[in-house]
Amino acid sequence: MSKKSLYNHFQPYDDQHLLAYNARSGAVALMTMENYDMYGRMLEKLAANPDSPLSDEESKLLEQLKYGKYVCDKHFDELQALKFEHYLGRYGRSTLGLVIAPTMACNMGCEYCYEENKTGRMSKEIRDELMEFVKSHLTEMRQMDVTWYGGEPLLAMDIVEDLTERFFEMAREHRVGYSSGIVTNGYLMTPDVADKLVKFMVRNAQVTLDGPARVHNKKRPLKNGKDSFETIIDNLVYAAPKMRIGVRVNIDQSFTVDTIKELLEELKNAGLHQKISISFGHLEPATEVCANIAESCYETEAFSKTEADFYRQLLAEGFRIDKLPAPSSVTCMAQIVNAFVIDSNGYMYRCWNYVGDVGKSMGNIRDTIDFQHPYFLRLFDVNPFEEKACRECNLLPICMGGCPAKRVDRNLAGEEICESWKYNLQPMLEIIAAFKQLEAELKQEDRNTGDQS
Ligand code: SF4
Ligand code: SF4
Repeated sequence: MSKKSLYNHFQPYDDQHLLAYNARSGAVALMTMENYDMYGRMLEKLAANPDSPLSDEESKLLEQLKYGKYVCDKHFDELQALKFEHYLGRYGRSTLGLVIAPTMACNMGCEYCYEENKTGRMSKEIRDELMEFVKSHLTEMRQMDVTWYGGEPLLAMDIVEDLTERFFEMAREHRVGYSSGIVTNGYLMTPDVADKLVKFMVRNAQVTLDGPARVHNKKRPLKNGKDSFETIIDNLVYAAPKMRIGVRVNIDQSFTVDTIKELLEELKNAGLHQKISISFGHLEPATEVCANIAESCYETEAFSKTEADFYRQLLAEGFRIDKLPAPSSVTCMAQIVNAFVIDSNGYMYRCWNYVGDVGKSMGNIRDTIDFQHPYFLRLFDVNPFEEKACRECNLLPICMGGCPAKRVDRNLAGEEICESWKYNLQPMLEIIAAFKQLEAELKQEDRNTGDQS
C-alpha cells in the first residue's frame, strides 16, 4: 500500500495545472487538476482498503508518482532513509574532497573580504607533505575532488600546475577518478591561463562579479586601486566556451532589480548570456573581520525575496536558471569526514570561511588527523537529525539543517538558520518551471528547424 511523501509541495501553476515538487527526489512536474484529484482519491481509497482494485489510469499515475517519490510504500520510513543517506555522506571514505589555497595572497581589495591582507605561498616542502597526506587516503579512495581556492589561486598558477601534475600521476597509477574546479576573481584568467586550466581538467570556475562595471569596480577594485570588471569580462568571453563558468553576484542591500538588469545588459553585450550561469550569494558577516559590513547585509528572509526577484529578471532577460532545489545528503563539507580546506601552510579547516585563521584550524597535514579536535567537532557535530524543527521540516532533504557555522559561530537560532528555500520555494519553483518550459520549447524549435533543413 502507498502513502503520500512527507516532502511533497503542490502549488497552483495555471488554470489547468499544479506544480508538483518533491524535495526528496528533487522532481518538479506539472500535474493536471484531474490527476491531482485522482491522486487524492486513490490514496484515500488505498488507505481505507489496501486491496482496492485500481483502474488502468490510476495504476499508471501511481507508477509515475512513485518514480518521482511523491508516494512511497506505507512501511517506508522516509526520515530514516534520509538519515541513512546523511550518515553515508558524512562517513563515506571513497571520495577525498580537498579545497586547496596555493596562496593566501590576493590581487583585489574587496570591501567585504574576510581574508584581510594575507600573504604566503605553498612551499615545495608543504606540497610534498600534501602529496603524502593524499597518499595516506589511497587505500579507500576512489575519487578525488579538488577545488582551487585562496586568496587568489591564479597568483600561484605554478603551484596549481605542479600539484595537478602530481595528482594526475597518482590518480593514473592508483586508478582513482579526478575532478577539479576553481574559485577565482577571474582577473588573471587570461586566455593562456584558461587553456592551462582546461588542460589540468579544471571543469568549472566560479567568478564573482558584484554588479555592473560601475558598481563592481568600486566594490572589487584591484589592490592598486585600478578597475577589474572589463578585464574579467574579456577573460570570461574566451574561457566560457571551454569550461563551465558560474558567475556569483554577492548581494547586499545596495542591490536593486535595476542594478541586476544593468549587469545582465553588460553580459549580454559581451555575448555571454547563453554561456554562463549566474547565482546570487547572500553576503553575510562571516567573521569579526567583516563585521563592519553587517549593517548593509540582508537577513535571510529579506534576501530570499530579493533573490527571487533577481531570478525573475534572469528569466526575463533570457539567462539560464541553474539554481534548483536539489536533494543533498549533507549541507556542506563541514559535515564530511573526508573533506578538508587546506591553506598554503598546510593547516586544515572545516569551513571555507576559516581558511588562513590558524586558531580555527583542526591541525596540519603533516600530523595525524585528530577527529576529536575541537575545531573538527565544532561544525561536524551539528546534526539536523538532532534538531526537532529540522526533523519535522518538509525541506530537510534540500537543506540538511543549513550552514553549521551559522548555528555555532554566529549563534543564530530558529528560522534564522534556515536556507532561503524556506522563504522563496514557491516563487522559485514558478521561475524554474517557466524556464524548463521555455527550454523545452526552444529545443523543439531547434529540432523542427533541423528537420526542415
Ligand atoms: S534549517 Fe530550517 S529549512 Fe533547514 S531543515 Fe532545518 S528547519 Fe528546515
Ligand atoms: S559551515 Fe557554512 S560557511 Fe562554512 S562551508 Fe559550510 S555552509 Fe559554508
